[in-house]
Amino acid sequence: MKKHANCVYLAAILLAPYVASMGSSKILSEGELNVYSARKEHLIKPLLDRFSEANNIKINLVTAKGDALLARLKAEGVNSPADVFLTVDAGRLHRAQLAGAFQPIKSDLLQQSIPAHLRSDKDEWFGLSTRVRVIVYAKDRVDADRLSTYESLSSAEWKGRICVRSSGNIYNQSLVASMLATQGLSHTEQWLNGFTKNFARQPSGGDRDQIKAVAAGQCDIAVVNSYYLAGMLTSSDDSERDAADKVALHWPNQNDRGSHINISGAGVTRSSKNSELATRLLEFLCAADSQHWYAQINNEYPVLAKAEIHEVLRKWGEFKADQLNVTKLGIYNSDAILAMDRAGWK
Ligand code: FE
Repeated sequence: MKKHANCVYLAAILLAPYVASMGSSKILSEGELNVYSARKEHLIKPLLDRFSEANNIKINLVTAKGDALLARLKAEGVNSPADVFLTVDAGRLHRAQLAGAFQPIKSDLLQQSIPAHLRSDKDEWFGLSTRVRVIVYAKDRVDADRLSTYESLSSAEWKGRICVRSSGNIYNQSLVASMLATQGLSHTEQWLNGFTKNFARQPSGGDRDQIKAVAAGQCDIAVVNSYYLAGMLTSSDDSERDAADKVALHWPNQNDRGSHINISGAGVTRSSKNSELATRLLEFLCAADSQHWYAQINNEYPVLAKAEIHEVLRKWGEFKADQLNVTKLGIYNSDAILAMDRAGWK
């Protein structure tokens, strides 16, 4: 697994938000696609290059944070040069759908390749990979038998022992949205009140920071996305690998609905003048080879059942994934934010 040169890509994002050939007045030829991607360039461009070469077309790639790209799409409206918008988290994809950023796509191939619960119910966006929000725990301080569900993390047993990032983060919002969708408001609020009381510290940092905090003894468990742990286990940075080795992964809710999953995904923009070609690109991203590469480089799970997974993920073994339609994560997003706020989750 490659080590990511984050600074270089951050600089690229900041310095090159516009691709030279993408003036808004430009009329796109049939052989050209503009892709707005919240995924960093090295996590998607090699695939786009493959599609570009195989079809003899040009692809212009713009990378930035998902929310910034959505704001740009909204501002550009029908004049947007974008054909495809690719981002992470169903909550964000749903937001883009509500903002009218996508057009419905009819593709037998996409419908056959991508399970129904991993795409928009209106066929406006499609999952390209899945990630699992898991519990990681300190191997030397936590008895794995004490772990079971997300819900159990509200019990007094975990008082002062949990690290998790802030409620402003959409991964947590989507986890809470999944609870609202399956258990309703009052159960979720009860859970939130107990869970937030168990925090070892005020939420800060990203998911990797929570794993490092567990490794450093600041807390005993953390709730994080699976690919961060995989990334640390395969990191070229010794301190990241050492931290990851001190923790183990628990798949939550294996005896009921399954572990909470989310997606990265994409859709064809409403403004696209080239929706047929854009649809072909989405279909290409769902082909077995693409799925294998994309899931491997992101340490995620492919949406295509037959695509191979990374060795680290294989070692973690099989798990039961929640089958909740990820559209629900978007539908319940604003209720989740309000409930987290009421519970005092900073
Ligand atoms: Fe992430």
